[in-house]
Amino acid sequence: MKPAPFAYRDPDTVDEVLALLAEHGDDAKLLAGGQSLGPMLNMRVVTPAVIVDLNRVRVLAARGFSAGAGFALGALVRQAELEDDSGFAASQPLAAAALPWIAHRPIRNRGTVAGSLVHADPAAEWGGIVLALDARLVVRRAGAPPRVVAAEDFFTGILETAVEPEDLLAEVRLPPWPEGARWGFREFARRRGDFALAGVACRFEVDGAGGGCRSVRIGLFGVGDTAVRARRAEAVLEGEAPGPEAFAAAAAAARGEVDPLDDGHASAGYRRHLVEVLVEDALADAWARDGGA
Ligand SMILES: Cc1cc2nc3c(=O)[nH]c(=O)nc-3n(C[C@H](O)[C@H](O)[C@H](O)COP(=O)(O)OP(=O)(O)OC[C@H]3O[C@@H](n4cnc5c(N)ncnc54)[C@H](O)[C@@H]3O)c2cc1C
Repeated sequence: MKPAPFAYRDPDTVDEVLALLAEHGDDAKLLAGGQSLGPMLNMRVVTPAVIVDLNRVRVLAARGFSAGAGFALGALVRQAELEDDSGFAASQPLAAAALPWIAHRPIRNRGTVAGSLVHADPAAEWGGIVLALDARLVVRRAGAPPRVVAAEDFFTGILETAVEPEDLLAEVRLPPWPEGARWGFREFARRRGDFALAGVACRFEVDGAGGGCRSVRIGLFGVGDTAVRARRAEAVLEGEAPGPEAFAAAAAAARGEVDPLDDGHASAGYRRHLVEVLVEDALADAWARDGGA
């Protein structure tokens, strides 16, 4: 199919983008990489009156790093750029390890991190990643100060987020990597490049030699209407000595706290099973990694 007719605008500045969003609200759609919007237009799942193309707003293509603040990714930062950035891999090993699992390289060449987050497919890897990393999402709207939304408050429903029709997700902030933090990433998809049936991104720190786990974060994707933080599983592991027993207990808790979809791709029961297996394996990977990158 072909898209329904729409007007096309390609502003040069963030202020112009915000003004167009204020003017057209629900009737407008932002275009970033077009990898999700394109198919939705073609299928007429969305029929906006106006497409506002972000690609001329060069300031949104910036990505910044500082030891104190971590990574700031503008709305036009493509997934493939990060994949090719050894500095990113050194300071954000979890996200870097997950990138090759997202779709295929041609899609990552165009697809942006911000676009993936706003599209909010519940099976998108970035959902689990931002939850595991305690990311902050900077949302801009005309006439209002920037709003900083915690990743855990960002996903509000299937394909829905805290970003309203008049809003631009301007920046994704990944806080500095805690020294020595352990991380794991696992997903299961039918074929490489497919959306995951279920997946997990996790991170924790360990208190000294022989100490317990702390700052445990377990972000799950493909397990319900939104990406979810497995809070019960995190609580089970928090303070426990890392090892197979603690990881198995946390994984069982994760299985119990998800409410996955039952669809043509997999049953809810199978997805719950995957959650338990993937969480246990990801936590074991994290522990085996001996900290850092
Ligand atoms: C065949 C195929 C397989 C895929 N497999 C995977 C996969 O395995 N895992 C995965 O995570 N993704 C997958 N994707 C999706 C891909 O990662 C997309 O690139 C991503 O979801 C959207 O990014 P984009 O920049 O292309 O956004 P666009 O398609 O341009 O926009 C997506 C939506 O977000 C809105 N939007 C975009 N940017 C902003 C912004 N800054 N502020 C507010 N709203 C904004 C748009 O209006 C639109 O509603 C796949 C896509 C395809 C076509």
